[in-house]
Amino acid sequence: MIIPRTIAALAALLLTAPCAQAQNFPTKAITMLVPYAAGGPTDTVARVTGQAMGKPLGQTIVVENRPSAGGILAPESVKNAKPDGYTILIHHIGMATTPALYRQLRFNPLTDFEYIGLINDVPMTLIARQNFPAKDFKEFLAHVKANKDKVTYANAGIGAASHLCGMLFMSAIQTDLLTIPYKGTAPAMNDLLGGTVDFMCDQTTNTTNQIKSGKVKVYAVTSKKRVPSLPDIPTLDELGLKGFEVGIWHGLYAPKGTPKPVIDKLSAALQEAVKDDTVKKRFADLGAEPYPADKATPAALAAHVKAEIDKWGPIIKKAGVYAD
Ligand code: ASP
Repeated sequence: MIIPRTIAALAALLLTAPCAQAQNFPTKAITMLVPYAAGGPTDTVARVTGQAMGKPLGQTIVVENRPSAGGILAPESVKNAKPDGYTILIHHIGMATTPALYRQLRFNPLTDFEYIGLINDVPMTLIARQNFPAKDFKEFLAHVKANKDKVTYANAGIGAASHLCGMLFMSAIQTDLLTIPYKGTAPAMNDLLGGTVDFMCDQTTNTTNQIKSGKVKVYAVTSKKRVPSLPDIPTLDELGLKGFEVGIWHGLYAPKGTPKPVIDKLSAALQEAVKDDTVKKRFADLGAEPYPADKATPAALAAHVKAEIDKWGPIIKKAGVYAD
């Protein structure tokens, strides 16, 4: 009789162990994977958010960069990680655009992840190297059209926000330009500052400081309305590209099967982070806006990912662009 009882006790232990682990979560540092290079816009959002989430969780969130063309490696790594909450993913609009851009994508944003919540919205800016020969958007447009075989456009790789913005921009001005892909706009920015590429479209989280210190030229913002931290910069819509709008949003994900109590704790920490005054100020200084806490939830992110896939899929398919 001892044996069955032992087996029963063991079975009970095995059944309750994952539950107890989930209740105690987190007992060690959490790794947040970033799909782009260190020092870039997504990395900045990851570090600000991770630091603030660490406080309510009582553990450190370690940011790890996994840069790749189009940012597709990090989601794949997180999809295959142990679903215990200790490996999570930050990603932006690329989570919704890569399914249309890649025919061989090895993850499905709709089925391979648990959603934690939305973080922020980030506008983009059209910037050029400091000595680019155009003082305003009118001159910029005339110059790129007249020199379309020479002017170079940097982006963070196919499927990145900067690629998407550039693609829409080129289609709006009906001009194809030479594209130079990087694995993040941090290395692209280095080359722009060094004067080896001409222009790019990038998030205010990467460009605001360079614009304010005069290290790059800025021609426009890509949001519908002007950005409060850059009030003098016109929108592309105001400048004549009617209806032009590209905005970036960030969300947090965990591997499919991560226990609900763990997701709830991560989401509660994210809700604290988006309400945090330091986070609000850091984001505002960089032109970004955190979502209200009721959007930093699994349901809000799930709905947003789905809506963005439905929005961008047909636009990308119509443009006929593929990354593979
Ligand atoms: N967010 C990317 C980065 O962090 C750039 C992009 O999406 O364009 O480099």
